[in-house]
Amino acid sequence: MEKLYEENPYLTTFSAQVESCTPSKKGFDILLDQTAFYPEGGGQPYDLGTLGGVRVLEVHERDGRVVHTCDAPLTPGTCVEGAIDWERRFDLMQHHSGEHIVSGLAHAAFGCDNVGFHMGADVITIDLNVVLDEDQLRWLEGQANRYIWEDHPISITFPSPQELEVLEYRSKKALSGRVRIVSFPGADTCACCGTHVSSSGQVGLVKLLSVQKFREGVRIELVCGGRAMNYINHVMDQNHQVSTLLSAKVFETGTAVQRLLEENTALKSRVLTMEERHFAALAQEHAGEQDVVLFEEGLSPDSLRRLCDALLQTCSGRCACFSGSEESGYKYAMGERGGDLRAFTKTMNQALQGRGGGKPDFVQGSLQASQEEICTFLLNQNGSRGNEGLT
Ligand SMILES: [Zn+2]
Repeated sequence: MEKLYEENPYLTTFSAQVESCTPSKKGFDILLDQTAFYPEGGGQPYDLGTLGGVRVLEVHERDGRVVHTCDAPLTPGTCVEGAIDWERRFDLMQHHSGEHIVSGLAHAAFGCDNVGFHMGADVITIDLNVVLDEDQLRWLEGQANRYIWEDHPISITFPSPQELEVLEYRSKKALSGRVRIVSFPGADTCACCGTHVSSSGQVGLVKLLSVQKFREGVRIELVCGGRAMNYINHVMDQNHQVSTLLSAKVFETGTAVQRLLEENTALKSRVLTMEERHFAALAQEHAGEQDVVLFEEGLSPDSLRRLCDALLQTCSGRCACFSGSEESGYKYAMGERGGDLRAFTKTMNQALQGRGGGKPDFVQGSLQASQEEICTFLLNQNGSRGNEGLT
């Protein structure tokens, strides 16, 4: 079978003879006498497209043959027209070539090997077996883009075994038989079965997005070409929103957010001080009482806990504090010095669709009930405990 994509990766339509068509799990497996469809391999995903009017769902190489899995059968012996999804293929070519340039330059400059390569739907990842710092990565990105803009022609050759012996090239595994060498002169020489752009300029742009430690080296996320443009547009859109919301210039959004966070921290600390004063006043108001039930508006679970703590300093019985609304239910914090609230909390949670718990003498949680239902429940429970009325 002639693998047309090996000779001409720019071929988007072709004619071929259907050799066989067999039903399979996912559809119909079709063999052709020649194809422009790239099967999954070398880290590059398979092509999509149409064949004789039916959809090509997957393409895999099996025993040296390219198997096209289609959503409908084709008649063996007939001639069909094939068309590959060029937008998808060209995007994959930009990324595959971009990956070679980055890996080749990193190999030459830092002596690291590409030990993993994955082309995802959003980003591609390259795993290198050496740790690179921020400066090295910035340099690498700069060099890769310079190489792209210099627009070097890319060559694909099948060297003889003698030529291969003296050729320096990157390869993930020991190779036998016909070896396909993809050369980016001055940047990379690598054994590869994938489809590549014909000159480096077509990669357009390489943008490294993130780096994280991975095994003994690093995992780099990157995008190339059209996807890099889309990525930048998304980031710009987000920055534009921040810029508009904070009335900050686009290159000053970081400072504006920093200022906002500082203001927020100052406000939180002011709220904390005011709450402390308020809680202390409430505790004084109820000083000397036994059981206390309080509903306070707009308290966070932490504030609720501090309010309950304050009351426990001046009251001798069970202190129950609630905050929330009739629609969303109420959060609670409840304490009793030296008491054991666990059984009580369990009963309350069951009766009022609640959840929560804690230490024997202090519990926190939430209830899906109205203020009236909560108060009624507490009154009944209080009655059975033999205490005096609620305050
Ligand atoms: Zn490759």
